[in-house]
Amino acid sequence: MEKLVRVEQPTTRITGEVTRINMRDRGFDCAGRGDYGDFVKEEYERFCDKYPLSHAMFDMISGFGAMSGAEVKNNRAPIPQDPHMLSRHIKRLGYFLRADVMGICELPEWAIYGVDSEGHPITINHKYAIVVAIDQDYQTMSASTGDDWISCSQSALGYVNSALISRMISNYIRYLGYSAQPHHSGNYQVMITPLCLMAGIGEICRTGVVLNPFLGTRFKAAAVTTDLPLEQDRPVDFGLQEFCMNCEKCADECPSGSIVFGDKSVHNGYESWRIDHKSCTSYRISNQNGSSCGTCIKACPWNKPEGRIHDFVRWVVKHTHFFDRFLVWMDDVGGYSKQRIKKKWWFDLEERDGELRIPKKSNEVNIEKEG
Ligand code: SF4
Ligand code: SF4
Repeated sequence: MEKLVRVEQPTTRITGEVTRINMRDRGFDCAGRGDYGDFVKEEYERFCDKYPLSHAMFDMISGFGAMSGAEVKNNRAPIPQDPHMLSRHIKRLGYFLRADVMGICELPEWAIYGVDSEGHPITINHKYAIVVAIDQDYQTMSASTGDDWISCSQSALGYVNSALISRMISNYIRYLGYSAQPHHSGNYQVMITPLCLMAGIGEICRTGVVLNPFLGTRFKAAAVTTDLPLEQDRPVDFGLQEFCMNCEKCADECPSGSIVFGDKSVHNGYESWRIDHKSCTSYRISNQNGSSCGTCIKACPWNKPEGRIHDFVRWVVKHTHFFDRFLVWMDDVGGYSKQRIKKKWWFDLEERDGELRIPKKSNEVNIEKEG
């Protein structure tokens, strides 16, 4: 990450005033209120609990949400005040706690939600945001279809670990005598995507979220806002905007048709590919042959394991877009979006009426031939 090219402005162009979003307008809030219909509302009630592993993980996340966190110490610790040194320290701490990618940015006001789910205004006076990103595990992704019974647990892995790490970092900063607040699944007061963009975790891709050059979109992130004096990272440019123009694999494979083909459009003062949140959220919540969906994560050519060949491909994409379509074709030929069924380690199970059963169906597409 430290070797990536940094730029002054994010590759998602900000063309006008970006206004603050209300938490009540998020897809899952809308679904929970019944705005997407009675069936989606009903399925929303069992969304996290219908698979036992995601159930176990979201139990943990609810527990984190209920914690109040450490008191801020009255006396500040005798530590250096150099923002460069403190930023290195906090990032190293994140990696010690097993974060996969760390980044720091100033907290733009437009990245703070306007009102919470109950309609109460949100105010945060912190100047900086520390972003913690967690890989959802390449091996499991390669064994899954992208929207089968493990999908929700893959997301939950990123959510629960980023929640834990953001809580520990926040408490640590408070013990040092500085104000800090964790923002994670079930406890967000800031929008994570713009913070990932500004902190240089990646660029915004066709699916509307940040794509990291080493993980693709196969990660979830949490943040810590704070007044600890920090040095900010700058956004990154590894050639993704042009690559997404030449690719469209996610739009081809999205089971709900929520991802647009073609060009970006301007929305709320910035230029991006705008996904249909209503159809995506509704599909994820009411998937009857699996638990949630990550098909776009699985299909993306940036969802790759570490290795020299992939390092070379990243270098090529950064320096020329002449080969983009060939690389997408190579990705298809390499069968990366196929399900490697031999690596499957989990049980397909579904909880209905308080009992675990073998589900009638599982989304099975593109299974790699055995043998
Ligand atoms: S999560 Fe699934 S439904 Fe939503 S955009 Fe991605 S592929 Fe489409
Ligand atoms: S699948 Fe292709 S178009 Fe979609 S996010 Fe990945 S690189 Fe971009």
